[in-house]
Amino acid sequence: MAQKILIIEDEDGIIHLINLYLKDAGYTVIVAKDGADGLALHAREHPDLVILDVMLPAIDGFEVCRRIRAWSKTPILMLTARIAEDDRITGLDIGADDYLSKPFNPRELVSRVRAILRRTNNQVVEAVQKTAGNQSVQEGQAEAKSTTLLRFPGLTIDLPARRVEVNGREVALTPTEFDLLALLAQSPDRVFTREVLMNKVWGYDYLGDGHTIDVHMSALRKKIEGDSDLRYIKTVWRVGYRFEVKARSTSAS
Ligand code: CA
Repeated sequence: MAQKILIIEDEDGIIHLINLYLKDAGYTVIVAKDGADGLALHAREHPDLVILDVMLPAIDGFEVCRRIRAWSKTPILMLTARIAEDDRITGLDIGADDYLSKPFNPRELVSRVRAILRRTNNQVVEAVQKTAGNQSVQEGQAEAKSTTLLRFPGLTIDLPARRVEVNGREVALTPTEFDLLALLAQSPDRVFTREVLMNKVWGYDYLGDGHTIDVHMSALRKKIEGDSDLRYIKTVWRVGYRFEVKARSTSAS
């Protein structure tokens, strides 16, 4: 079945262009021309991905992104009209998975959409295959499950279900935040450079700068370390990040 993409955009020219390219790439496309309509369609149609313009009448794209994120993990690709870095950072900070600045090449848009959908779908498939490969089916669900469940003090990551719990409470991560955490946590103590993270998580030679990773990491940290006495993600100065479970230091750091 074709994957469904919701476009929330008010400019007819851009809708037409995106529509053309996405349909050509085999996706089903639905369109909303303002934020309120977009939210309603999202709730009703459960799209696989949302392409969301920042500049929208009535409810702007940031607010639409916040409201979708309040209850859903649907991947969101934001379109920013302004070159202002502020817009990109705001978008990522409130849970968008990627952004493109207008004017953009429609082929680039399609490859971003593919990459986002591939990593959201693939991780589930990979985890299931890993489970199937490591354990014979007869051994039962409970044991098979343990290979895809990463447990750390105060933190549990369920890879196939893409669920994260901090101190027993589920934390809602965006697909990008989940991918970053899963990648780091599967190789504790390995240092990942920003380039490696971008290529692994985005699945191709990502054109954005390393700052994108920093914004996602900061949002991820807020969610998993916010109420906890433990720290999980360590910044390696001038290199990148690694996973490490450590007590929160009492002095300001
Ligand atoms: Ca617009």
